[in-house]
Amino acid sequence: MDLATLLFPNVTETPEDLESRYPQRQLAEGAVVTRMAPSPTGFVHLGNLVQGLVAERMAHQSGGVLFLRVEDTDAKREVAGAVEVLIDSLKHYDICFDEGATKEGDQGIYGPYRQRQRANLYHVYAKKLVQQGMAYPCFCTEEVLTAMRADQEEKKVNFGYYGSYAVWRDRPIEDVKAAMDAGKPWVLRFRSTGSIENQFKYNDLVKGSLTITENDIDHVLLKADGIPTYHFAHAVDDHLMRTTHVVRGDEWLPSLPFHLQLFRALDFKIPKYVHIGPLMKMDGTSKRKLSKRKDPELALTYYKAAGFPVSAVYEYIMTLLNSNYEDWRKANPTADSDSFKFSYKKLNPAGALFDYAKLCDVSKNEIAKMDADTVYALAVEFAEEFDPDFALCLKRDPDFTKAIFAIGRGGKKPRKDLATWLDVKPYMGFFYDEYFVSEGFGDKYAPSVIRGALEAFLAVYDPTDDASTWFDKVKAVTTQIGFAADMKEYKANPEAFPGSVADVSSFIRVAVTGKTNSPDLYTVMQLLGDKAVQRVRTAIDSL
Ligand code: GLU
Repeated sequence: MDLATLLFPNVTETPEDLESRYPQRQLAEGAVVTRMAPSPTGFVHLGNLVQGLVAERMAHQSGGVLFLRVEDTDAKREVAGAVEVLIDSLKHYDICFDEGATKEGDQGIYGPYRQRQRANLYHVYAKKLVQQGMAYPCFCTEEVLTAMRADQEEKKVNFGYYGSYAVWRDRPIEDVKAAMDAGKPWVLRFRSTGSIENQFKYNDLVKGSLTITENDIDHVLLKADGIPTYHFAHAVDDHLMRTTHVVRGDEWLPSLPFHLQLFRALDFKIPKYVHIGPLMKMDGTSKRKLSKRKDPELALTYYKAAGFPVSAVYEYIMTLLNSNYEDWRKANPTADSDSFKFSYKKLNPAGALFDYAKLCDVSKNEIAKMDADTVYALAVEFAEEFDPDFALCLKRDPDFTKAIFAIGRGGKKPRKDLATWLDVKPYMGFFYDEYFVSEGFGDKYAPSVIRGALEAFLAVYDPTDDASTWFDKVKAVTTQIGFAADMKEYKANPEAFPGSVADVSSFIRVAVTGKTNSPDLYTVMQLLGDKAVQRVRTAIDSL
């Protein structure tokens, strides 16, 4: 019996069978077929979104296919429900797959899309490699491998299973048989013909031209349980699923020499590689990678809980990936982002620099662009999940809440008060009695002065006045208490007055809203109706 049959007695299919079972895709010239291939560890991070967005744009902009493959070969790291979480998180950001693993099972003819269900497919190619003398079983135990590593450390030579360290490389079949008969577990190793003396050029679509040193290690292809390593699964899956472009993190770059070697050994067409740099951030004056341990903003769940609208995160990532996106957005404020011509060529090979303040700015612009109905819907949705009491408040009188959100909205220069849905409560919670808290009037003016101003204001306030009449009355009150009604006059000679119309407005504002900063005061009072007057009265009583 030959070695291949000894190792894989049950494999009857051939690579040719698989080639016809998974035919070439019939797509237009230039269509990109790419995938996301996450391991279901339960943690979805911003890098997944970045990668997903690059892959999604490259696929869909070219009329190609984006599919989801679940890389569950490492059962130890797997977390229940992780695939669902991933699908939901990406969908939340508008990244939808055309094919692959879904919550309801597989969709598409290139499956199964979960690697553990593909064991028999890998074995077909494993058998072929053994037949061709390009793979062999290795029975080394953990102890043997650990001792080998210690020896290499001592001799100061490269780590790994290669050269004279590759002790099972050329064993006779009798040894293999004997080890198998003794029930010893084995892994399948690649027989590398590479040498670290040799280098060659390879062009990565993001990193550019790379000088690659050949791989000389006999890496593991199949683990003892018959499940492939990432490397082998990557080659077989991306070949059979007809992937044209591999979009992945650049932590895989060191494995690229082996991957290229593997594709060649298997006689597979090599896909194009798009290795994306990590997300970086400034830490003091130096740049570092965003870290799971140190940076809560790496988790995708963070953005939802922090109240960033989906569109803001999406817009921000686009500005990170393609530096011309921002200008395009300015010129096309209402255009669908899909009409932007995305280019992988603009990705920063060293990784994008994540800037939280910039994200907040982008988000302010996004929320400022929304109409009041949209703001209402999204703010309520957020509050329902994260602040249910406040949600009840917002929903008590939807028209009233929408009218509040309409203040300063629309027009050429909309107000940019909200960066996240968390800002809603501090911004306009005062409209509802349960969230009204007075910051107080400070100690710049004596309570009697403030009381006098508020009393004079109440005496003339008429809710049916229009905005300019209202303001004329505020100015009249200002003059009446000896403050400056004309700001120019006041600025020219501030010593001549105890204060100005700005101070008087501020007294009224603090009385009505509890704060020195608020949306347009006239409109606020209009919306509050009788409550505005009551609040001024309460303030007078407290002074
Ligand atoms: N499972 C690998 C990871 O999560 C996928 C890398 C790839 O896209 O090929 O990093």
